[in-house]
Amino acid sequence: MKQILVELKDRPELFVQIEGILSAWKSGNYKQMLLHIYSGLEGEKFTEYVAKTLSIIFPEADIVGTMSAGEIMEGHLMNRGILIGALFFESTNVEVFRYDNVKGNERAVGRQICQQLDSIPGIKAAEFLLPGTEFETKPLFDEIDECDKDIHIFGGYSGGHMLNSPVHYVFDAKGITYDSILVTTFAGDDFHVDVDKVIGWEPLGVPFRVTKADGHKLVELNGRHASEIYEKFLQIDRKVHDNAMEGYTFPLLAEYKGEQWLRSAIHIEEDGSLNMHGTIMEGMDIQLSYGNPATIVSQVNDRLKRVRAFKPQAVLLYSCIVRKAFWERYVDMELEPFAQLCSTSGFYTWGELIRNCETGEIVEHNVTQLSIAMREGEPSSAELPDVLVDDSVLRGPAAQMRRLTSLVYTTMEDLQKAQSDLRVLNEKLRLMAETDALTGLINRGKTEEAINNLLQESATKNTSVSLLMIDIDHFKSVNDNYSHEIGDVVLKETAAILKEAAHEHRDGRAGRWGGEEFFVILPLVENEEAMEIAESLRKRVEDHVFPEVGHLTISMGVITIKGDVQGKDIFLCVDKALYEAKESGRNRIVRAEI
Ligand code: GH3
Ligand code: MG
Ligand code: MG
Repeated sequence: MKQILVELKDRPELFVQIEGILSAWKSGNYKQMLLHIYSGLEGEKFTEYVAKTLSIIFPEADIVGTMSAGEIMEGHLMNRGILIGALFFESTNVEVFRYDNVKGNERAVGRQICQQLDSIPGIKAAEFLLPGTEFETKPLFDEIDECDKDIHIFGGYSGGHMLNSPVHYVFDAKGITYDSILVTTFAGDDFHVDVDKVIGWEPLGVPFRVTKADGHKLVELNGRHASEIYEKFLQIDRKVHDNAMEGYTFPLLAEYKGEQWLRSAIHIEEDGSLNMHGTIMEGMDIQLSYGNPATIVSQVNDRLKRVRAFKPQAVLLYSCIVRKAFWERYVDMELEPFAQLCSTSGFYTWGELIRNCETGEIVEHNVTQLSIAMREGEPSSAELPDVLVDDSVLRGPAAQMRRLTSLVYTTMEDLQKAQSDLRVLNEKLRLMAETDALTGLINRGKTEEAINNLLQESATKNTSVSLLMIDIDHFKSVNDNYSHEIGDVVLKETAAILKEAAHEHRDGRAGRWGGEEFFVILPLVENEEAMEIAESLRKRVEDHVFPEVGHLTISMGVITIKGDVQGKDIFLCVDKALYEAKESGRNRIVRAEI
């Protein structure tokens, strides 16, 4: 296969300039010809004239065209002209299908396309050219996703040089259309394709959750107007009527099915929503992002290595208009090296499509550079030049930008690290503030809080809660007869027994009230059951053998609260019951009356 490119500016040039295409076609070496026409012209007349004229001169050729936000000719951005890319095939079967009246019929059209693709013998790839982003793309692609997973799918959305230009068209020999999809299929054993994307944009600032979205409309982030993300961080005023383009080099970045995924905002609406360059889904976590020149260069270099190894005979580049705005006059830097491998054509898009080969899902992207390397037959044995991006711009003109973005990324990383350290520390402090250091149980403050919460719940929901107040009998003599250290061990072991018993009940907790006094809190436990639990606990302690000390006993006051007991001092009541247990001989349980 072979590619010949022609740049057109004026009517009279047409016949002169297509001579190369004409003689290649007349050579008889090729079975099929596909003409891509990329038009950077806002006016439609000349574009239609070119398509029609070419269809008359080359009646056998397939013709597809798109409005372009920049034409890419041999790795260079052309200045608003018309680029004709003629692809000549020796054995590949190329066909173009046009689907009209897509808007409102997305699902049905998707189904048709899917069936069409599956019906072509030996199909390897399909290229999509779509006008703007007016369609409901989700149902459309959901249907097409169903086609054979081995079919590579790629494509681009048409759009003008100006972001606020309202017209987007694609065209074929029949003329311009605003509501059609053009699908070009490539089939045959000898046809090989390698499609991939590069991005190089990196996250900036804090993440936000998409809490409300509808198709291409992003309504809310973290429950607030989505526009605030651009207003607060980038000072873009939504009240300015014509704010298109202002934020689009700072797209929103998300992780989607394990891939980096970007969406540019075309326009910030006055109602605080964002008009995005493609579908956006609720529940996604997004961040603002910006191009990191060094990352872009290294990603393009990686991609170049793979394209070089593929030994392409033609490369198509579909690159996002955002990249053009980002690089400004250095834009060719990331395109040129492809043209050193073989003839390279393409256009600046308003959105890119690429199918994920593993899942079969067609994913709409923004901000990517798609490279589609094509070849017929086995790779040639001739060595291709070892091409790399000329990154002198990173040290020269783009150095300030690179340093500034590096400063932002690094500051952000440091801040995120500090924030996460702080979070861990806060959690530690919170636990420390609630925990009794000796026994590891919740401390008195937390115990009181937990009990008060349950009393509140009991008052509002009429639920019951039982409390056991526990005191070790003759504990002072443990300290006196053995040591304070042994006393501490006894406290720890008693605490462990109480904790275990508490955890046998749903949401049960044990807390240290002070000295050798404890509480066991038993939500939703009624009177009788509370007495049974208390008895079994008393027995467990009685049976336990404490190191050196041997056997010890506990006394308990038990209280069950149900409903509103406001004005009653629960703590006083249960303490009184505990006192009675002590007075009446210890190692026993007394139920508190309220
Ligand atoms: P009763 O059966 O009436 O409860 O007698 P008792 O000896 O257990 O009660 P008393 O209140 O006289 O003694 C409690 C002792 O607990 C006094 C105090 O020194 C000791 N104590 C309080 N906190 C700790 C502690 O953290 N570690 C140790 N080892 N002892 C403690
Ligand atoms: Mg005591
Ligand atoms: Mg005691």
